[in-house]
Amino acid sequence: MSETILKPDTTFDVEELRKEFPLLSTEMNGHPIVFLDSAASSQKPQVLIDSIDHYYKNLHANVHRGVYQLSQEATHAHEEGRKRIQKFINAGSDKEIIFVRGTTEGINLVASSFGRKYLKEGDEVLISAMEHHSNIVPWQLACEQSGAQIKVIPVNDEGELIMEEFDRLLTEKTKIVSVVHVSNALGTINPVKEIIEKAHAKGVPVLVDGAQSIPHMKVDVQDLDADFYTFSGHKMFGPTGIGILYGKEKWLNEMPPYHGGGEMIKTVTFEKTTYNELPFKFEAGTPDIEGSIGIGVAAEYIEKIGQENIARYEHELLEYATEQLSQIEGLRIVGTAKNKASVVSFLIDGTHPYDVGTILDKLGIAVRTGHHCTQPLMDRFGIPGTVRASFAFYNNKADIDRLVEGVKRAAKMLR
Ligand code: PLP
Repeated sequence: MSETILKPDTTFDVEELRKEFPLLSTEMNGHPIVFLDSAASSQKPQVLIDSIDHYYKNLHANVHRGVYQLSQEATHAHEEGRKRIQKFINAGSDKEIIFVRGTTEGINLVASSFGRKYLKEGDEVLISAMEHHSNIVPWQLACEQSGAQIKVIPVNDEGELIMEEFDRLLTEKTKIVSVVHVSNALGTINPVKEIIEKAHAKGVPVLVDGAQSIPHMKVDVQDLDADFYTFSGHKMFGPTGIGILYGKEKWLNEMPPYHGGGEMIKTVTFEKTTYNELPFKFEAGTPDIEGSIGIGVAAEYIEKIGQENIARYEHELLEYATEQLSQIEGLRIVGTAKNKASVVSFLIDGTHPYDVGTILDKLGIAVRTGHHCTQPLMDRFGIPGTVRASFAFYNNKADIDRLVEGVKRAAKMLR
């Protein structure tokens, strides 16, 4: 990142910063693109693209197995990525940073491994009504195998967790709590620190789905005291196919391996296998080396801009978008929590979200429509889905103005 983007007062120059994202200068359907779907996947800065290019041109070899220099350099770059992530989320040790494919795999790993070791008939897994399908289905699979049951913390009409219900549902039967930090469908920021404190008071570990928090705010896993925290590279300006599962060493040591294969073993005979130490015990097979390098580059990029600057700027965008969209006749925002990240989900009377999204597409505006992989949450609100605009630090007010104009046009055409 060029230093001119960072102003002396630690804010950043969004117009300069946008130039670092090549895709933001392209067109969609003959219009300069307005990209408002960063909650699904963010765009990539040139520095990330360069790091991947550099890796394949200069550094590629398999890791942890070659005695030759190139393999050792690749291993160093791969492990450097892990260290960067350890620092980024303030984990106590790099043994607690497991490379996975993304948030989905992080949750599946815990549900499967923790589930096999600790869940049995009569136990309960506590999740919330605003979970992404990837924090529901893995627990259903674990419950099918163990005979445990899922309990659900409900949400109120604003889209906030009803904490009195959480208190009531957290019992001696609860074996793990698994909740989302920031809702992808509503933008609600959940009080995960309070949830963790209360669960720990009853000896219950907590997994936090950080897919939507990591790109927008500072996360310190030790300060939160999370037992597990998982997120995806592609939503934090990094590559697809890589993600992180943070887990406290204590748990990861006790849990059985998830996948079997090379790298995760110490010794193998046909009679018995002994497992490698952390983090390798959970990393079977050749890893995503460009991904581990890339996610580290992305983390440093975010740190350079500054998570506080990002949160402050995106909050301004959120307020502006909320105010402008609210003035459109017949438009209803779904998810009006007091504490929100930069996501606006909405419906327009007499129109279907899909039709609104299709018209916006023709105008060069990329939004997400549908249930956002949160069907139970949509059922809670009695709606099939929403139109969702989600912002990153590279969006500006002009993007929002284009969205508002587009929505007005769509509403007029469809009614
Ligand atoms: N959890 C939340 C809150 C999400 O928004 C998403 C993706 O949209 C996921 C989990 C799954 O992430 P991935 O598809 O990167 O594994």
